[in-house]
Amino acid sequence: MVLLPEKVKIFISEHEKFLVIGHLEPDGDCVSSQLVLAHFLRRLGKKADLFSEGPFDRPEIFAYREFFRRTVESSDLGKGSTVVILDCSTPDRIGNLKEEVKGLPVMVIDHHSSGNDFGDVRWVDPSACSVTYLIQHLIEGLGYTPTPYEAELLLFGLGTDTGFFRHLGESSNMVFLSVSRLVAAGACPRKVFRMIYGGSNLAKIRLLGRALLKVERFFNDRVLITHQTRADIAGAESVSRGSDDLYRLLQSIKGCEVVAFIREEQEGHCSVGLRSNEGFDVGAIAESLGGGGHNQAAGFTCRGRIEEVKNRLLKIFAEHLQGP
Ligand code: 5GP
Ligand code: MN
Repeated sequence: MVLLPEKVKIFISEHEKFLVIGHLEPDGDCVSSQLVLAHFLRRLGKKADLFSEGPFDRPEIFAYREFFRRTVESSDLGKGSTVVILDCSTPDRIGNLKEEVKGLPVMVIDHHSSGNDFGDVRWVDPSACSVTYLIQHLIEGLGYTPTPYEAELLLFGLGTDTGFFRHLGESSNMVFLSVSRLVAAGACPRKVFRMIYGGSNLAKIRLLGRALLKVERFFNDRVLITHQTRADIAGAESVSRGSDDLYRLLQSIKGCEVVAFIREEQEGHCSVGLRSNEGFDVGAIAESLGGGGHNQAAGFTCRGRIEEVKNRLLKIFAEHLQGP
């Protein structure tokens, strides 16, 4: 059961101008929660602007990039301006915008279990399956129903973070009731599925194919690691780190407990995406390496060549794996 905290109601009612900010390399949950919150605030007669440093590489969110500004102007920082930061467990997740909005009152709405206590008003619920789930409860908690536009985007965010429901467990009945309300409000699951998974092209799928060919198997397939070099992605029009499809395919392999996707961002610098099955907390591992995330989906960036990063990870995985 999600209850809208009183402090969130007060923050919204007491202010008129909101800079709505999300994390670097935004995903469907981040983009949708930003878009819907801003749309809803405007419905309340307030001013809301959207900010993100991007890049909007993930194909499913690419079309939304035009609604976001990369930098804050001095005119945005006038009297009464406030900041809402969504889907971020640490302030550095918003990039340089952190410096640009310094001094403004900040409200954080998030669902990560790790991170730091930044912001003046915090609504952080790690049991929430997505930030859009919280935004839906924010709208409903203030006595409104999502518009069809908002309902569709709320389902888009929820569908993104739950792998279209496949990460939801036994105690997710309230999520499905919320989804039922979104569908009643005009969201179409079939359309939203295509919004999330339907925007690919052959070049991207071939890139995915290349990553699949490079999968290395460790500890009897309990650990699967793949990577992408600069050469692999050279010439690709847009690439996002490890698509959900890649993880889904690898996690379907019998015995697989954890998947790591290492991407060479620059010479000697990599980003890593991690996914795991229940019982293997990759969020804690990512946090110990300077990143963050959730128990079953996390990531970080680090120095080192692909081979070095892989060996570092293997050492950590070996410590976490128990049994044969
Ligand atoms: P993805 O692998 O899809 O990029 O990220 C999975 C999850 O890990 C995201 O929801 C996000 O919470 C977290 N994450 C990914 N990269 C980073 C990172 O560099 N820093 C932090 N703090 N979290 C990350
Ligand atoms: Mn999220």
